Amino acid sequence: EAHIGAVDSLDGQLNAFITTSFDRARAAARAADERIAKGEAGLLEGLPLGIKDLFCTEGVRTTAASNILRDFVPPYESTVTANLLKQGAVFLGKLNLDEFAMGSTNLTSAFGGVTNPWRREGSDAKLVPGGSSGGSAAAVAAGLVLGATGTDTGGSIRQPAAYCGVAGVKPTYGRCSRFGVIAFASSLDQAGPMARTLEDCALMLEAMAGFDPKDSTSVDRPVPRYTEALERGVRGLKVGIPKEYRVDGMPPEIDALWEQGIAWLREAGAEPVEVSLPHTKYGLPTYYIAALAEASSNLARYDGVRFGARVPGASLDALYEATRREGFGEEVRRRILMGTYVLSSGYYDAYYLRAQKVRTRIQHDFLAAFEKVDVLLTPTAPSAAFAWDEKPDDPVQVYLNDVFTVPASLAGAPALSLPAGLDRQGLPLGLQLIGRYFDEETLFAAGRVME
Ligand code: GLN
Repeated sequence: EAHIGAVDSLDGQLNAFITTSFDRARAAARAADERIAKGEAGLLEGLPLGIKDLFCTEGVRTTAASNILRDFVPPYESTVTANLLKQGAVFLGKLNLDEFAMGSTNLTSAFGGVTNPWRREGSDAKLVPGGSSGGSAAAVAAGLVLGATGTDTGGSIRQPAAYCGVAGVKPTYGRCSRFGVIAFASSLDQAGPMARTLEDCALMLEAMAGFDPKDSTSVDRPVPRYTEALERGVRGLKVGIPKEYRVDGMPPEIDALWEQGIAWLREAGAEPVEVSLPHTKYGLPTYYIAALAEASSNLARYDGVRFGARVPGASLDALYEATRREGFGEEVRRRILMGTYVLSSGYYDAYYLRAQKVRTRIQHDFLAAFEKVDVLLTPTAPSAAFAWDEKPDDPVQVYLNDVFTVPASLAGAPALSLPAGLDRQGLPLGLQLIGRYFDEETLFAAGRVME
């Protein structure tokens, strides 16, 4: 009830929720009480969580923050949310995001932008929460929920976590099932937890992860007890500092925070080592070709016939056109156009195929680095949260924000962001840890030292 009250009193300002499901939550909480009384509590029994509105929830509207799915009520539950429910979690509702998870500001939502609960000292300017999981990050930061699900295709868990001063984990690709998660770029999309501490993230990930025959890219490996890995420490661990991440024009405070992180790890017994990831500079262009190509194909299913909104037309073609023109927002349309362009014959070899090859190089950079070190440490984003009205008009300027998060996504490697400090204006900054495939445990152990 306290969390429901917090949503009621604060979400008018934040706009973190698209849909609330308080009646269901109350019923779930009563059932949780009974299981606790019987000594049958699950891992997350009774804990109030929020769900990014990209996860299908049976009987509860799921919009992807798009007009084209404004009234879509899924007839089935995503595997990740089903896993959370099995462990007793209570869902307060569905959280805002960039439309179809495309963005880094949460300003592309058809349900309006989300306001970051943080403010610059001495200023009332509304700040973005980051994106695309901006509603999740804001709801956790404001204490509306104890944890939230996010999805991360190129940074959508880590960057909003950093902007809102919370922790967020993008597991190894294949760790969490994508079944029932509305697809953006299927070879990159991963679900993960966002919460105030890494311990809470560890607990949530234990519940969310696991093999699922309904997702052909889900990997059949046992899920470790992440909560136990938290206390392992970092003695003897080699921590790679990738020199290509020292980009020009980065605010000195972010550099200083990075140095601080290195110092914390060294004091705890780890050994920092400089490493090179030579193809880092190709990360952004590769991502914005591969992700958009996949998005254009995934979003072809919204045709006004099978799913969601329909805008009638005089012919079938006219119906498709009207539905897609009115249903999709500007950023989504831009990405579909670019995605179809790079996939079209004549450009396919020059863009899409080339991007796939470079993606393999980027992956090899990580594999080579992980022969020398156990984990990599970088900043999560090149800036702190910016104001709503500071969002650049040029979309490419917004894409540049993803410079530190997309390489791990392209490689499929696990990565997390933890809140590590404040900038001069009192805004949170995040540090990122990137790990070996399926070694989220080392990320939790190393992250814990810097929390
Ligand atoms: N900001 C990136 C993009 O706009 C990442 C989004 C995501 O991870 N879903 O594509």
